[in-house]
Amino acid sequence: MPIKPLTEDLRNKIAAGEVVERPASVVKELVENSLDAGGKQITIVVEQAGEKLIQVSDDGFGIPPKEMTLAVQRYTTSKITKAEDLFDIQTLGFRGEGLASIAAVAELELASCVNGEGHSLKISDGLSGDLEPAASVQGTQITVRNLFYNTPARKKFLKKPRTEFRKIVDMVRRFSLMYPENGFKLISDNRPILDLKPESLEDRISAVTDPLYKENILPVSMAKGDYLVTGFVGNLTLVRKKPGEQYLFLNRRFIQNRMMNSAVYNAFKSLMNRGEFPFFVINLSLPFDQVDVNVHPMKTEVRFKDEWRLYHVVRSAAEKALEPILSTIPDFSAQEPGFSFFDNPSAAEHENQSNLKFGDPADMPKLDRAKSYASNLASGEDTEEPFDFESMWQVHKKYIVSQIQSGLVIIDQHVAHERVLFEEALAAFDGDALAAQTLLFPDVQEFSPDDFSVLLEILPYLEKMGFRMKEFGETAVMMEAIPSEMAWGAERAVLREMIDNYQEYQKKYASFQEALAASFACHAAVKAGDQLTHEEMSALVNRLFGTKHPYYCPHGRPVIIQLSLDELDQRFERS
Ligand code: ADP
Ligand code: MG
Repeated sequence: MPIKPLTEDLRNKIAAGEVVERPASVVKELVENSLDAGGKQITIVVEQAGEKLIQVSDDGFGIPPKEMTLAVQRYTTSKITKAEDLFDIQTLGFRGEGLASIAAVAELELASCVNGEGHSLKISDGLSGDLEPAASVQGTQITVRNLFYNTPARKKFLKKPRTEFRKIVDMVRRFSLMYPENGFKLISDNRPILDLKPESLEDRISAVTDPLYKENILPVSMAKGDYLVTGFVGNLTLVRKKPGEQYLFLNRRFIQNRMMNSAVYNAFKSLMNRGEFPFFVINLSLPFDQVDVNVHPMKTEVRFKDEWRLYHVVRSAAEKALEPILSTIPDFSAQEPGFSFFDNPSAAEHENQSNLKFGDPADMPKLDRAKSYASNLASGEDTEEPFDFESMWQVHKKYIVSQIQSGLVIIDQHVAHERVLFEEALAAFDGDALAAQTLLFPDVQEFSPDDFSVLLEILPYLEKMGFRMKEFGETAVMMEAIPSEMAWGAERAVLREMIDNYQEYQKKYASFQEALAASFACHAAVKAGDQLTHEEMSALVNRLFGTKHPYYCPHGRPVIIQLSLDELDQRFERS
């Protein structure tokens, strides 16, 4: 399909938004494009952990010269053309904003060859140069230089190069596990880091982990109706005390989903303790209309039409894979009421969004033989750390503590998110609407007549915030989309609180818009008590630094406290 601008209608339906947060996000966008173009050999070259250079080359079908300038514009894509396509997304990209988002924060050069004719195009400061002849090598090469040269706050907030680089390696590892039949090469500062030849998934797992893995994985394979679950799960030797090696893919797209993770964890029954995590690489093949992938441009979140059905298939698939171990070790789970948490996947799924507290380890039932066996096997395995847990922590589910070049910062998660949402909502009132997540399965909400008239009054603003609804009967609406920022399922409460509070807020703020934005921000922001994943924390912090006033919340409370190394040295009398 040729590259075309998305129609206005489609533009409103896609969950759009900024996608470039760090060097690894550039790698993600570019590798996805290469895979979508049918590339079989993908080479990623980085310099200075991607800050200086990121170059991705593929041998895919290329970009025709006359489409090159279009490719880098926002909302231009060759992957979807009409609204129905959203229910049948078979490519990794479809929003048409990957290249445009990169061009906004870096210098970009495209070189591509179609039918033996090569062309290249340079874009810097958002301006594209002229099309020039280039080498005729089949495929596409995209070069990104000086990332974030024009957004100093974001640049300042990048982690140490070592950490940013590890995120790049993780990203490439993810793709390589999903596409073992492809070749991947990663070169960093002229050093080869990964050189993966096309191979079986089993061989690929050992190529990107270590040879120990190959001896300790069990094949997963189960078909139920039109659902197919395949891959590998590690045995007890590969159980770790930290998460990070749970590779879950949906139709060959990396996703994160607590419910499906817990389906696998549950299959381990009493062999594994809470707080222990098995290794797995699992792909869920589902008919494309059974999932909604148009959720959030960056979050690796998707929605399933029937998540319970899928949960059970995943769990039985993992149980079947683990049969050889389960059958040799007695199952003590029946005597352990305390271990039933994971038997309730919806509770497990909300683990991160609610105040749900785990019991004190001391209250846990005594370790039984099987469990101590499992943990003995698992101990001593924590040598490598695939995710960046070192330089960002959440403390008391309230504050984010992070290391930056000059020292450390402490951020109040609620007010930080409030500041971000407040500024974004205000900006949206005068410009493009905020990112929305379309509900594939719309939801009808009833209101009292009074509330409903307030709702109609503020509707145009709500739309700018990312809500989209249709009137449905006298006093009800059919909710079609909600702001991507909001926790899914929170929309009812947030909308009601906004209706209740907007009059009150109006007294405190200079304008009606500010009142609405503040009300939205206050109610949609994460709360103290919400557990955040590492990914969520770093996304939040990154965006905070993109705001005009990152240091104070709309009510004037501080958002960030910085402690410099000098200050610490002084307090420790280290001078
Ligand atoms: P999207 O991937 O959502 O379509 P992008 O901005 O990432 O949006 O890319 C825009 C378009 O540029 C794609 O739809 C595709 O047609 C083209 N394109 C980008 N990268 C490549 C590539 N490596 N090979 C072939 N075509 C590409
Ligand atoms: Mg793309």
